[in-house]
Amino acid sequence: MLFEPNKEYERWKPQDDVMPEECGVFGIFTDDRRYDPAEATYLGLYALQHRGQESAGIAVSDGKGIKFHKGMGLCSEVFKDNLGPLLGGHIGIGHVRYSTTGDSMADNAQPLVMSYRGGKFAMAHNGNLINNTVLREKLEDEGTVFQTTIDTEVMANLIARYSKHGMLKAISAMMKVVRGAYALVIMTQDELIAVRDPQGIRPLALGKLDNSYVVASESCAFDAIDAEFVRDIRPGEIIVINKNGLKSYQAQSAMDTALCVFEYVYFARPDSDIDGISVYRSRENMGTRLAQAFPIDADLVSDVPDSATPAASGYAAESGIPYAKALAKNRYVGRTFIQPSQALRERGVKLKLNAIKRNVHGKKLILIDDSIVRGTTSRKIVEMLRLAGAREVHMLISSPPVICPCFFGIDTPSHDQLVGSKNSVEEIRKIIGADTLHYLSIGDLLKTVEGAGCNFCAGCFNGQYPVDIRRALKETETMDLMTIE
Ligand code: AMP
Repeated sequence: MLFEPNKEYERWKPQDDVMPEECGVFGIFTDDRRYDPAEATYLGLYALQHRGQESAGIAVSDGKGIKFHKGMGLCSEVFKDNLGPLLGGHIGIGHVRYSTTGDSMADNAQPLVMSYRGGKFAMAHNGNLINNTVLREKLEDEGTVFQTTIDTEVMANLIARYSKHGMLKAISAMMKVVRGAYALVIMTQDELIAVRDPQGIRPLALGKLDNSYVVASESCAFDAIDAEFVRDIRPGEIIVINKNGLKSYQAQSAMDTALCVFEYVYFARPDSDIDGISVYRSRENMGTRLAQAFPIDADLVSDVPDSATPAASGYAAESGIPYAKALAKNRYVGRTFIQPSQALRERGVKLKLNAIKRNVHGKKLILIDDSIVRGTTSRKIVEMLRLAGAREVHMLISSPPVICPCFFGIDTPSHDQLVGSKNSVEEIRKIIGADTLHYLSIGDLLKTVEGAGCNFCAGCFNGQYPVDIRRALKETETMDLMTIE
């Protein structure tokens, strides 16, 4: 069931410094001396770097205590000289994170390492809670002091509070209280635990490295350490791994599953499979469907690198129009998406992408991108291609217009900055200066992920979110946190 946003929206809308974060998580439990958890986690996070480039962190346990290191920057920067002291454990978890601006970004880096009555535990989270503000207020009213502004700390606090009867019971009690998206890796001194929210909004997968277990946001992290993909962690499932092996508990029945469809459109890596669907194949299929829906007379099909490459190849194969690169990408420029000012964002696009004049001069071009958010990228690119001599530029988008922000773990700006929320397709075409502009329909998009083991959230495209916000907030307001078990 999907729910329209309502006027409670303003109340639970995250503040600027706690905007939804894009994150990747990784964990490993090993008794095998050939594998070092810190090293494996480092490699796993490297493979998940696209899910967050602002901070990175690793925590390891050697059975006696938990050591960790985290900081601002890419994995390679954060761990340049800091992996050594973490070597030698048997469990490791890690996190990469991207969020919008906030004052205390370093404090918000994960994993969080907390003390509780059972010793210490560390926790890393991908996703966003929608009742975070209410829960935080309630906890603060009771005297809880927080060290970060992230919802992960609210979850960690609840786990510590309910831990009298062990970690498993504590996590399952926490799951009764929180609402929203969470894919978690948790580490005690002797256990690795993975948890996926009952709607499975963010992905989480289980893998094996010989007899050692690994968990990760995406299967591409398993490939980085030569681990095998075993299966996706089920919505509502808690997996506990310790020296006795792996145990699975269905803590909450999977309900109205709502995996984020934007993972397939843009966020995930094309070499990952999520909930039974290859990200690459789904993107290629988006291109095929664009070609069927919008046949265009053109000389070549091209992509905005890299996330739209499979869709362009699908369009080219279906239409018979040759594929060629219209844009070169500077590999050393990171994200241009969220920059403090529009001027920097525009400059960023120019630095990142440049037209290949010899390919585009005098040509009728079909250019495919995965999404239009603010419209900055498309506008700058169309301008660039025209300056390079393109005769016509037909822009095709392998997803529907982004009309609403995401509150479940994808970083999208607010309504007023989304070009699709206040303009028709024709108006957007004019804004970006393309000859024609076409978007994939929601129906076609959902067909590209048909056969997945779950249903989907397409809230950014249709404004229908998978959680009944009003109900969730009311329930949270009246909850007695002390009596939850
Ligand atoms: P914009 O310039 O704001 O329209 O952004 C559109 C471009 O950003 C597209 O090329 C997308 O590939 C990319 N994009 C879309 N969503 C995101 C996101 N959540 N984070 C980073 N980049 C994104």
